[in-house]
Amino acid sequence: MGNPNCGKTTLFNRLTGLNQRVGNYPGITVDKRSGKLKLGENHDVELIDLPGAYSLSSNSMDEQIVQDVLLNNAAESHPDLILSVVDVSNLHRNLFLASQVHDLGIPMVLVLNMIDLLEGEVIRTEELEKAFNCPVISISAKDGKGMDSLKKLLLHSTQPEDNPHINLDDKWITDPEVIRELLPDTSVYQRFKITNHIDKLSWVEHQQKISDLAHQSGNSTYKAELNEINARYRFIDQLVKKVKLTKTDLRSKQITEKIDAITTHPIKGLAVFLLTFFIIFQAVFTFAAYPMDLIDSGFVWLGESVATLLPEGMLADFLVDGLLAGIGGVLVFLPQIMILFGLFTILEDSGYLARVSFMTDGLLRKFGMNGKSVIPLVGGFACAVPSIMAARTIENRKERLITIFITPLMSCSARLPVYVFLVSFIAPDDYLLGFISVQGLVMMGMYLLGIVVSLLVALLINYFMKHKSGSSFILELPRYRFPNSKNILSSMINKGKTFVTEAGKIILIASLVLWTLGYFGPQKEMDRIEQKYEQMALESNLSEDELSYLESSEKLEYSYLGYIGKGIEPVIRPLGFDWKIGIALVASFAAREVFVGTMATIYSVEDDPESEGGLKAIKFSYATAFSLLIFYVFALQCLSTVAIVKQETGGWKWPSIQLVSFTALAYFASWLTYIFVK
Ligand code: GDP
Ligand code: MG
Repeated sequence: MGNPNCGKTTLFNRLTGLNQRVGNYPGITVDKRSGKLKLGENHDVELIDLPGAYSLSSNSMDEQIVQDVLLNNAAESHPDLILSVVDVSNLHRNLFLASQVHDLGIPMVLVLNMIDLLEGEVIRTEELEKAFNCPVISISAKDGKGMDSLKKLLLHSTQPEDNPHINLDDKWITDPEVIRELLPDTSVYQRFKITNHIDKLSWVEHQQKISDLAHQSGNSTYKAELNEINARYRFIDQLVKKVKLTKTDLRSKQITEKIDAITTHPIKGLAVFLLTFFIIFQAVFTFAAYPMDLIDSGFVWLGESVATLLPEGMLADFLVDGLLAGIGGVLVFLPQIMILFGLFTILEDSGYLARVSFMTDGLLRKFGMNGKSVIPLVGGFACAVPSIMAARTIENRKERLITIFITPLMSCSARLPVYVFLVSFIAPDDYLLGFISVQGLVMMGMYLLGIVVSLLVALLINYFMKHKSGSSFILELPRYRFPNSKNILSSMINKGKTFVTEAGKIILIASLVLWTLGYFGPQKEMDRIEQKYEQMALESNLSEDELSYLESSEKLEYSYLGYIGKGIEPVIRPLGFDWKIGIALVASFAAREVFVGTMATIYSVEDDPESEGGLKAIKFSYATAFSLLIFYVFALQCLSTVAIVKQETGGWKWPSIQLVSFTALAYFASWLTYIFVK
């Protein structure tokens, strides 16, 4: 075990080779990687690559697993011996967890990894051996240095004493003696941790009793944990001074301090922040545009090829307009997701993200979130889907939920075409003072509206959602370093894969349902329309194209989707919408950008609907366009978002609440708009 990125997996791979298995931790969807390590002729041990953790106090899913496995002596994966892996180039931060593990009293070996990175530095391992009372070994997992000595060490593990690094006596929230009787065969630090986290640890035999004791005392668990963290960092400060003698360390520290003077400066820091995200957005829009176009045109080409191969009819229509279009609709998200995550990983690995979180933490805390919410929120302007996935790093469940909940209110890139289309109905294509576009101003207003309302929603949830303890967001700013290309690539691939396999399924099914509803209708009507246009083809002098536009428009009107659109007309009439808009609303539930295309079909617009001719054909009143615009600011017209929220929150509860409340919000806001503007 060890911090994220300290080299656990590299070491694990070295030690187990190909003897690996991937399973699951009970009840959760985090991979459990284990493997067999041969120590001698008849001496096999099972090695587990535990998820990365910074401490035993946190709430991220990964850290929860580590906590459970280590605190619970009866857990299936409870180790007989811990290889506590430490990145020597980050000794201070890494020793924190190692010190907690030491205090648990489980036999351990302290593994100092990445010694190849030490230049002109000396680690005095004998000091660490004394402090940890366990074997200490220096290795380089990447180069394979020290593997044999490590294996030999494992054969002779020592029994630790129950003698924590820090004094716990004054930190207990309840009587330690009572707890000791309730939890026999545990170390004092184990009991301390179990008491502080008791409400999350359902496997503890006397959970209810201990929980009652903890709550009766009236003492704050948060404070107890904070006291421990402070005491432990004092201990580690002392220890690191004795252990590490450095030259290069000093230099990189100076560089870090110089950069931090700018990045954490109130004004310069903000400028760097804005510039960074400006560049990220530009990158997402420009770089993602090419692969997205490629995927788009690839599927169009595929569709055309299939259409020419198959006889005209339902099967061809289903394959082309239903299935292929649905798959294309899923895959087209991939470039944005992968690029955004690649860039996020760079920000994270370089150490900059920690600074951004640090700077924004105070502000976001007022809204029930924390500094780590910045990435999802800002990313939401590009696309809510990867941004909601990025909220995983937020450890506190409540803060994470609030962040996930409001992220879709940031106006994403898919709203852009809808905004552009609708704004042209309500604002003139004029410029104020010759250079400020009026339409641009209205658009900006929509973005601001989304932001302001999202913060109000956050306040509201924060107020109503009771939660026992706030997160203990104690962040040590890591050194700046160059991001690792393998990390970037693997995060891009992993996130892409998760999206396609998890959210993709739901999106595909839903778009097939929508296709079916839009394609089929009562047989009588469909026959009637077909006959009518066969007749017209013979009699009228309209061109074949014009006829086919009219025909598909009429077919859509009499499809089941059309009936739904007409069915909801009474409900949406107060907003200034008719059944035509109703159809487009329902159809665009799969993805907002579908709205413009559906409007074009219904009005049988032959040109590009955003062009002069297209706009003339579609008749909207000023009030209707305004009301629709407001509707799209708030409505959750995006199946991918619903699917990803379901995946990330582990159930239908939150996406349902989100869907219902955003729809209600959109409805209400549009209604008010229509009344006032009319
Ligand atoms: P984990 O998150 O703890 O599983 O860490 P990984 O095993 O994925 O390693 C994180 C990064 O550190 C990878 O890019 C490794 O190549 C790198 N790494 C691991 N061990 C060493 C080492 O001994 N020396 C150096 N220089 N890099 C290492
Ligand atoms: Mg790993």
